[in-house]
Amino acid sequence: MTDPATSLARALPDRDPAHRSVAPPLWASDSYEWADADAKPDYDYSRTVSPNRDMLVEALAVLEGAAGGGATGSGQSAALLALLLLPAAAKVVAPHDCYGGTYRLIRGLEEQGKLTAQFVDQKDEAALDAALAGGADLLWIESPSNPLLRLVDIAAVAAKGKAAGALVAADNTLPTPLRQQPLALGCDLVLHSTTKAINGHGDGFGGALLAKDAALVERLHWWANAAGLNAAPQIAWQTLRGLRTLAVRIDRQEESAKIVAEWLAARPEIAAVHYPGLPDHPDHALAARQQSGPGFMIAFELTGGADGTAAFLAGLELVTIASSLGSHSSLICKPATMTHRGMPPEAQAEAGLGPNLLRLSVGLEAPADLIADLARGLARLG
Ligand code: PLP
Repeated sequence: MTDPATSLARALPDRDPAHRSVAPPLWASDSYEWADADAKPDYDYSRTVSPNRDMLVEALAVLEGAAGGGATGSGQSAALLALLLLPAAAKVVAPHDCYGGTYRLIRGLEEQGKLTAQFVDQKDEAALDAALAGGADLLWIESPSNPLLRLVDIAAVAAKGKAAGALVAADNTLPTPLRQQPLALGCDLVLHSTTKAINGHGDGFGGALLAKDAALVERLHWWANAAGLNAAPQIAWQTLRGLRTLAVRIDRQEESAKIVAEWLAARPEIAAVHYPGLPDHPDHALAARQQSGPGFMIAFELTGGADGTAAFLAGLELVTIASSLGSHSSLICKPATMTHRGMPPEAQAEAGLGPNLLRLSVGLEAPADLIADLARGLARLG
């Protein structure tokens, strides 16, 4: 395969034969003319099918090794799309430390009696085996997890899911397809919140659900159309524009994250740094094997309790307190009250989300400026 950086920079240059534009046009039209009312054209109605969505999905499918998929209005609608593929009263097994919105969606559907869910520590083989005993319909994987950056051996976990008869889906938002390809590790579906690094500029909601198998792609298209989950052409166009520069952004953000993580690990005010690129991370070896880089996300815990965390955050001038990630700018969040507030306190405690835990998404700023800002925050701890 062509290097992904090249395929992103050069992908799909031939979609405007009329004018030979170097960047793809935006087809904003909601519908397309039928030359003959009895012969459906390839493009008829943009909720169903759109050239801009097709281009985005094609570019993502190349990176993920997928047969195809859908581009949706958000990461959450991509998750809902995966859940719509399931039979009535489906059994879902998901990680106990998954993204809070995923937890909320699955639990919400469970509370309505639409499915049954078990959230387990997928690193605990016995717990995973027990959850999958008797079969399952969907096994959800998130590695590295948000926010604690724990990894699971995707190939081993996916194999257990397949043996239990489950569809296996992996949320690949944090590593991006440039650092990890779950379909090659045995998953059936891969999900992205393209809101994050794929769009990369903090200005566009979107999601994608890609499938390894063409028959699954068909089913996924049917549901995306039926439920109206597809992204608007404008967002698909914009997301492809962001995706083109993913390789350089990720390289830079990851380089900076390594420097920042090492700096944090050496500071006495920091009780723990969770970054798979650090040699003492419990999954450091697995990360080196399973991912082609440790990524741009860091989680860390301060020593000063909830008050210390508040003082630290108040001291930051450059890094923004915000709940997204993967943007051009560095964003920090307190998962317990922000991204994971959809998890009840007991579930948060089980997932290891304490009041001192912070999650930092390292952006494109110079690492020295980021470190100076984090030092400003730590100076507030007194
Ligand atoms: N998956 C992960 C790992 C996320 O971090 C998020 C959002 O933060 C989502 C899914 C949901 O994506 P969106 O906010 O685009 O709906």
